[in-house]
Amino acid sequence: MLHNFSPGPAAVYKEVLHYVQNNLINYENTGISLLESSHREKAYQEIHQKTIEQLTYLLELDDEHAVLLLAGGATLQFSMLPLNLLANKEKKAEYVVTGAWGLKACDDAKKIGKGIQTTYDGRDHSYTILPQLENLYFDNNSAYVHFTSNETIHGLQWKEDIVLPAMHSKLPVVVDMSSDILSRRINANSYDIIYASTQKNMGIAGLTIVIIKKDLINRSSAELPSYLSYATHFAKNSLYNTPPVSAVWILSLVLDHIISIGEITTVEALNEEKAEMLYEVIDNSNGFYHCPVHKRFRSSMNVVFTLPDKAIEEEFLAQSARAGIYGIKGHRSVGGCRASLYNAVSRENVKALIDFMREFKKKN
Ligand code: PMP
Repeated sequence: MLHNFSPGPAAVYKEVLHYVQNNLINYENTGISLLESSHREKAYQEIHQKTIEQLTYLLELDDEHAVLLLAGGATLQFSMLPLNLLANKEKKAEYVVTGAWGLKACDDAKKIGKGIQTTYDGRDHSYTILPQLENLYFDNNSAYVHFTSNETIHGLQWKEDIVLPAMHSKLPVVVDMSSDILSRRINANSYDIIYASTQKNMGIAGLTIVIIKKDLINRSSAELPSYLSYATHFAKNSLYNTPPVSAVWILSLVLDHIISIGEITTVEALNEEKAEMLYEVIDNSNGFYHCPVHKRFRSSMNVVFTLPDKAIEEEFLAQSARAGIYGIKGHRSVGGCRASLYNAVSRENVKALIDFMREFKKKN
């Protein structure tokens, strides 16, 4: 088997894949596959409800928050969010742009609302640092403030819950957590909206979860097309139309697995350990490997690094691929290397990568 460091779709727990293999054709001895039966059948209905309950349990959500299971990727949320929260198209919303994904979210929102503002853009620092919220100006009349908790391409992460300064405490905070949800403990109830697609830490592609404070759902205008309205999905418990059955199934199995290994505390400890192992090799390489992100903001999920020059980097990527290391080429927009250490990446996978990196450095 390869050591999978893919940025997404990414490694899935082997236990989950084996279970799916054993139950793919004949689901739990029902005589039929989940993939070919109606989503209105009991089997899927149970999985659907259980998934919502498991997410509520693991994230310790209160009654004020609802969980929606949607399709369309996190990318659909880039527009669905302003469509729903800016019933008045003139109203302001603010974006704290800390990397490529925040920028995409902001650009899409600007196509919808006239009042979309880039409150901060880390481009001048090549997206290697995060801002101090106390130093940013927020307008208390804005509809929401948008953040990206982990920038998957640039490899930087808000290490603690994102809390606006007390004078802005009424502003709704919306966070794209696509690449670090369920990787560490958070105070999920402190956010007004969290959205995340599932193909990194939670399973496979095709599904996006939206955790939304119920009082925000009422802001959706009745004029929105049905699928684009949070209110539609909330009213129908995310069964307004055919849900992405297979992705929900796998999400429920991933959540079962996380609960069985000790919940998010266990997952977080392993994630911290894996990230430390890899950053340690980078930092102790006398500059042979270099991580451009400021130490305080380095992501535990996506570790980005470069080598001394292009030629040696290409050799590194070619040789690592031959050694069974998969998915560490940096994103095409930034180059370099990137190892994604999502939940299902094991300590042994990371050990294989760092052994290879040490050996490669010695030889070069
Ligand atoms: N936000 C972040 C932080 C991401 O990493 C990604 C995908 N890599 C997206 C949004 C887009 O997600 P999707 O492909 O599911 O639309």
